[in-house]
Amino acid sequence: MTENLPTIAIIGGTGNLGQGLAYQLAKRGYPLVIGSREEAKAESCAQGLTQRAGRTIVGTDNAAAAAAGDIVILTVPWAHHRGTLESIRDAVQGKILVDTTVPLVPPKVTRVQLPVGGMAAEQSQALLGPGVRVVSAFHNVAAAHLQADEAHHDSDVLVCGNDREARQQVVGLAEAIGMRAWHAGPIENSAVAETLTSALIFMNRFYKIRGAGIRITGEPGEAA
Ligand code: NAP
Repeated sequence: MTENLPTIAIIGGTGNLGQGLAYQLAKRGYPLVIGSREEAKAESCAQGLTQRAGRTIVGTDNAAAAAAGDIVILTVPWAHHRGTLESIRDAVQGKILVDTTVPLVPPKVTRVQLPVGGMAAEQSQALLGPGVRVVSAFHNVAAAHLQADEAHHDSDVLVCGNDREARQQVVGLAEAIGMRAWHAGPIENSAVAETLTSALIFMNRFYKIRGAGIRITGEPGEAA
């Protein structure tokens, strides 16, 4: 049964994380639209993903993708976070915006550099306003795992945001892909996931790991 699934739009969906999420979600039957600054680039990328996933994925420009999505996932580098959000601000009103952005400042990506003005997801919520339910997720999942044919999603996902129902929808997306996802509190708590990524990149290099992730210990309900 896929007819009741929300349409997922991925802004910057031609990139590493965007393509990985698009591929995995489309395979599970989610209607998928990927966006790009260039419509032709999105169309070409969507064609390739359609062939791989065996499901039709639409490619268009970012604004049209944002307008088409019920849930809009932002997957662009930190340097283009604000500008991209401004370009889709009107189109995402009333929707859930999933922010995956890690505020990395190359070349020192293995070092946490706290952004001025708050973490990425906090800035998204402030910029988009109360009409958009911003949820942060997927910061600690390597795109390479999502792009692979064989599922290797053994990294947990921390999901933060101020609206419980919106968080639950994003938990559901991660679970649909086969990952374990956790409600991790309000949008301020996104700082934990956003900063953790620099440590994971450091560990990838130090230990030669192909995409380190995190695991939460303990089981829900065990303390009841
Ligand atoms: P990426 O492949 O380098 O870029 C993603 C997309 O951003 C590009 O395909 C491009 O789309 C768009 N873009 C590039 N320059 C732009 C500009 N000047 N203005 C607007 N859009 C621009 O990035 P990524 O590795 O997928 O990471 C995307 C986000 O996910 C980042 O914030 C990152 O921190 C986060 N993240 C990544 C991973 C990972 O493993 N890669 C994991 C967790 C979180 P078009 O050229 O088609 O417009």
